[in-house]
Amino acid sequence: MEGKKPYNRIETVKDWIYFQYATVIARSIIESRGEHAETRSALNSHFGLIVSQYNDLKSGRKNMSDYLNDSKKALKLDRKCIYCGSEEGELTFEHIIPRKVIGETMANHEHNLVLSCRECNTSKSARELISWWEAKFGADQLPRKHVLSKYLKFLYRLHHAQGTLNHPWSEWDTAIFRTGARNH
Ligand SMILES: [Zn+2]
Repeated sequence: MEGKKPYNRIETVKDWIYFQYATVIARSIIESRGEHAETRSALNSHFGLIVSQYNDLKSGRKNMSDYLNDSKKALKLDRKCIYCGSEEGELTFEHIIPRKVIGETMANHEHNLVLSCRECNTSKSARELISWWEAKFGADQLPRKHVLSKYLKFLYRLHHAQGTLNHPWSEWDTAIFRTGARNH
């Protein structure tokens, strides 16, 4: 993945996932105070909060497991598109990490499935979530916490399964592509 390192202490794939997840937790905290936290610019003044969440994840004081309820059942009850929030039209099961990338079996794991409208499903296609989101909704827009949280947890599982959590942070998605190549 091209791009800037979001925090200078990130060295590995695991660090990168923890840092992204720390922003999800920080956004929940900020929103619980009644402030906005859905854009990158809104988060600029909260970097210290993100870093403290990151340190908690790194040290094991917090974990990624149950922070947000993202079971398949809950998703079915929440009848709207995970991406744009649309409640109109038919919702379809969408793979956050595409079948093309990780293969059919892994892609159909319930932790990789969300409901989306047809338009978002088609638009996203086989693209990576965060870069697709920026292209569709604007570079300042962060993916909704719910879908970002699921994505990061599943990325963690995939990297854990293939032993690449301690690879350089810049390989956080290319290592997944290698898994896909093996599955096809
Ligand atoms: Zn949508």
